[in-house]
Amino acid sequence: MTIVAEQSRELPDWRNPVIPGMNRPGGRVRVALWLVSVVGEGNPFTKTELRTAFPDESQIDRRLRDLRDWGWVIHNSRDDESLRPEEQRLVKCGVPVWMPHQERPQEVGAKSALNAAERTRILSADDHMCRSCGIAAGEEYEDGVATAKLVLSRRDVVHREGPVTTTRVTLCERCAKGGLAQKADVAGFLSAVDQLSPLERRAFARWVEAGKRARGEMERLWGRYGTMPADARQEILRSLTSETE
Ligand SMILES: [Zn+2]
Repeated sequence: MTIVAEQSRELPDWRNPVIPGMNRPGGRVRVALWLVSVVGEGNPFTKTELRTAFPDESQIDRRLRDLRDWGWVIHNSRDDESLRPEEQRLVKCGVPVWMPHQERPQEVGAKSALNAAERTRILSADDHMCRSCGIAAGEEYEDGVATAKLVLSRRDVVHREGPVTTTRVTLCERCAKGGLAQKADVAGFLSAVDQLSPLERRAFARWVEAGKRARGEMERLWGRYGTMPADARQEILRSLTSETE
């Protein structure tokens, strides 16, 4: 909190910012100043507090969301399970938009708001189902209390090489609320696959390719074996165990 106080001494007043080189600062600049001087990094705030601070700005929620394109990290209750639905948290301040001639960061990537086309692309790539519990949009939950609504949630991806990136994953609202901050650990996953026998590895690669767990020849044979009478099973057992000796 002391940092906030020190900074605010040289910050323009969020209520009526006077900024050389800027005619009349808009909502985005004012809401950024409000976040820095009133909320402070790491602290939560509510929609009501935001709207009360800017009674004359009808689009203040949108101006707040715009800041994400400027490197501001603002989490809602979907991103952070410790937040109540009406709360958001200023996780990290981004570009000081109250200073003239600031440029949007190039690497907005996953932090930027998604447009409709990007949303559709991600939902379709995830087969329109929750990647945690497998429920599809509009499907009824087992308890019959509600039908599933799909949302896009952020997920960190640990690659085999290079830095961790953030991407989106399709979840149902329930799983998203569950808020387990899972990582997609590609590196760890691949090293676990490496532990499989060559035969298992090939079979697994075929599942991945097909996008589903296909029944292999071994499983088909196991199914047939199970249907046989005891005598037949004994004969198969004797034959196979003598083979391996
Ligand atoms: Zn789910």
